[in-house]
Amino acid sequence: MSLKGKVALVTGSTSGIGLGIARALAAEGADLILNGFGDAAAIETLRTGLAQEFSIRVAYSAADMSKPAEIAAMGSEAEASMGGVDILVNNAGIQFVANIEDFPEEKWHAIIAINLSSAFFASKAVIPGMKKKGWGRIINVASAHGLVASAQKAAYVAAKHGILGLTKVAAIELANAGVTVNAICPGWVKTPLVDRQLEARAQKEGISVEKAAGEFLAEKQPMLQFSTPEAIGGLAVFLCSDAARTITGVPVSIDGGWVAQ
Ligand code: NAD
Repeated sequence: MSLKGKVALVTGSTSGIGLGIARALAAEGADLILNGFGDAAAIETLRTGLAQEFSIRVAYSAADMSKPAEIAAMGSEAEASMGGVDILVNNAGIQFVANIEDFPEEKWHAIIAINLSSAFFASKAVIPGMKKKGWGRIINVASAHGLVASAQKAAYVAAKHGILGLTKVAAIELANAGVTVNAICPGWVKTPLVDRQLEARAQKEGISVEKAAGEFLAEKQPMLQFSTPEAIGGLAVFLCSDAARTITGVPVSIDGGWVAQ
C-alpha cells in the first residue's frame, strides 16, 4: 500500500481511463477525489463502492473541467475536506472528429478547454499545497496524439501536443520541490470515448463494430490489441512511486508501438 495517506484527484474518473487510474491508485491505499459527469445515483454508488472495496476516503467533485472557476473551487474544497491533493491526474477529455473546414468552433473551444486548459487550472490550484508538503505527483493523460497527428482531429491533437508542453514547463518549475510532472500517452484504449468513434466508423462503412475495431488497430497500432484502463492505472501507480522520483517532464507511451513507426 505505497500510497496510503496520499490524496489523489483524478479528473474525468467516472468512466474509462480515469476510473482505471483511480482504481489502481485506490488499490495502493490512496484516498480519492472523483470527478466527472454521469448519473448522480450511479456516481454515488461508485463513490461508496470504492470507499468500501479499498477502505479509503472517497470524495466526489462535480466540477465542470471547461469552467476555470469550478476547477479553482474544486481545489479549495479538496484542501478543506481532504487536506489537499498529493496526486493530480489531469485526465478529463472529449473528442470530436471532422476536417478543419467543417470543424464547429464551439467544439474547438470545448476540446481546448477540457483537454488542455483544465490541466493548467487544476495544476495552478494544487501546486502551492504540493510545494508546502514537499511532495507531489502530477500526471497528465495526453495521448499518442500528443506526439503524432491524425487527420480530422485538429483540436484534440493540438490540445494533446499542448499538454505535453505544459508538462515540461511544470516539470522544470517544480524540479526541486519534490514534485514530478509527467504525461501518459496511450494509444487505443477501449473506453466509451473510443466506442463512439468505432460505432461511427461501423455505421459509415456498413461494417460491424468488431471489424471497425480491427481496422482502427491495424491503421495505427502495430501490436493489434487495445491497452486497458487497468494497465494505464498501473503506469500511473509507477509514476507515483519512489522509483520514479527522478522521472519528470516526459511523455510515457503505452501505445502498442503506435509512435515507434
Ligand atoms: P471517457 O469518455 O470514457 O471518459 C472521459 C471522462 O471525462 C468521463 O468521466 C467524463 O465524465 C469526463 N468529462 C468529460 N467532460 C468533462 C467536463 N467538462 N468536466 C469534467 N469531466 C468531464 O474517455 P477515456 O477514453 O477514458 O478518456 C480519458 C482521457 O484519456 C482523455 O483525456 C482522452 O483524451 C485520453 N485518451 C484516451 C484514449 C483512448 O483510446 N480511449 C487514448 C489516448 C488518450
